[in-house]
Amino acid sequence: MTGHTPIRLFIGGKWIERNGAPILNPANEAVLGIVPMAREADLAAAVDAATNGFNVWSLTSAARRSEIIRQAAANLRANADVVARDITLEQGKPLRDAQTEVRRACQVLEWDAEEGRRLYGRTIPSEPGYRNTVQLYPIGPVAAFSPWNYPLSSVARKVGGALSAGCSLVLKASEETPAAAVHLAEAFVKAGLPDGVLNLVFGIPADISRYLIGHPSIRLVAFTGSVPVGKGLAAQAGMHMKPCIMELGGHAPVIICDDVDPLDSASRSVAAKASNSGQICTSPTRWFVHDSIYGEFVNNMGEAARKIEVGNGLDPATQMGPVANSRRLAAIQELVSEAIAKGARLVAGGERIKNNGYYWPLTVLADVPADARIMKEEPFGPVALVNSVTSLPDAIKRANELPYGLAGYAMTHSADYAGYIADHMQVGNLAINHFTSSLPETPFGGTKDSGYAREGGAEGLLNYTIVRSISFLAG
Ligand code: NAD
Repeated sequence: MTGHTPIRLFIGGKWIERNGAPILNPANEAVLGIVPMAREADLAAAVDAATNGFNVWSLTSAARRSEIIRQAAANLRANADVVARDITLEQGKPLRDAQTEVRRACQVLEWDAEEGRRLYGRTIPSEPGYRNTVQLYPIGPVAAFSPWNYPLSSVARKVGGALSAGCSLVLKASEETPAAAVHLAEAFVKAGLPDGVLNLVFGIPADISRYLIGHPSIRLVAFTGSVPVGKGLAAQAGMHMKPCIMELGGHAPVIICDDVDPLDSASRSVAAKASNSGQICTSPTRWFVHDSIYGEFVNNMGEAARKIEVGNGLDPATQMGPVANSRRLAAIQELVSEAIAKGARLVAGGERIKNNGYYWPLTVLADVPADARIMKEEPFGPVALVNSVTSLPDAIKRANELPYGLAGYAMTHSADYAGYIADHMQVGNLAINHFTSSLPETPFGGTKDSGYAREGGAEGLLNYTIVRSISFLAG
């Protein structure tokens, strides 16, 4: 097996080397390689390339675009072992989860490739002699920003959406997990994507976003990351009258109703919380459990959490890898300590494990006071917060009390309960009796502070288009 993939910028069809910053392996804090930092001239070249790329790509037939995107997905699949290993080395997740991420990214690209062929307009009944139609056109070059928790699938959503709709991109992928985006760009080069259609840069995030959002050629901003950064970027985009796709944070509630098995629901809850070490914007975080099964549920959560094997993602025995960086470790430590100091009951975990690498055990806190910071701030780590409620309306009230509204979950066998939850939970994505909140074919995105617009599903590509109403009077 080869080592870590060398990282370069990709601008106008050329790979470019620059000095940069070290990339760390969260499993052992070793330096894996260097991420090059773009200069302003590189950003200018990337926007120029994307502008030229747009002129070519937007005039390429939808069928040909689809073919190239599907071929890129096939190239990625063929290279899946190398890509997945790089994801684990840089980000920490277990190798099998990295392999799942590669498959999911390919499915996203394939879905979008097909949706691009179905971007239909419509004809509106008109006065005699008039033909009124509505047509969808690609919006223009896109500035896209993707995070470190899903280095490939988050990138694939933006690249798949933009390219399928006929747009070009300047993508700034995460500096901490850059290899997957490099692999994706290589897969597109091999598939025959014209030069300049996809451009990849790394650097100082705030400098890059300010430059790209302010550039007149960029017509859309797509961002996945935290609420504060998203609000800042949306404000900048607003100053330049540019639309955004904002996929921001969450603090997902899980309602456990009185009619479910407290053992099964607890063990499935723990498995979901362990996924990607809790570093998912849709990660289940606040459990509201009916008080008739609360005691048993909490005990079962604790037992299941203590069984989760934490270790290096390359070790096949590992169920949960390290958190991705030292910032997460420090933030989780602080939030957990503050909650315990405020009176939360520590049921499992609660302290850093190992001194080398960023390992944190699956932690369960029960009876967490509403004024503990962790009940309001996204822990973005493997911490489950469990509280009892007396009724379903009480659970809904607690679920909706934060400004977040991304994912929500519930467990019940009752159609009445499920209907009530669906009607009242303020989220963009609700999953009942399971924890998969999005698929390539379903629209993904939030409400309230969690953002707006959708990625995936039939809705996803619409963000990358402008609607043009065309009225034609036969002369
Ligand atoms: P952060 O807010 O500094 O960064 C989050 C992401 O945004 C990173 O990928 C970063 O490179 C990028 N970013 C930061 N400032 C930027 C700017 N001015 N312009 C463009 N991109 C910018 O925090 P972090 O420590 O990297 O991550 C922690 C928080 O980020 C978490 O608590 C979580 O809320 C959020 N996050 C959310 C997602 C998600 O999927 N929605 C993914 C990763 C991180």
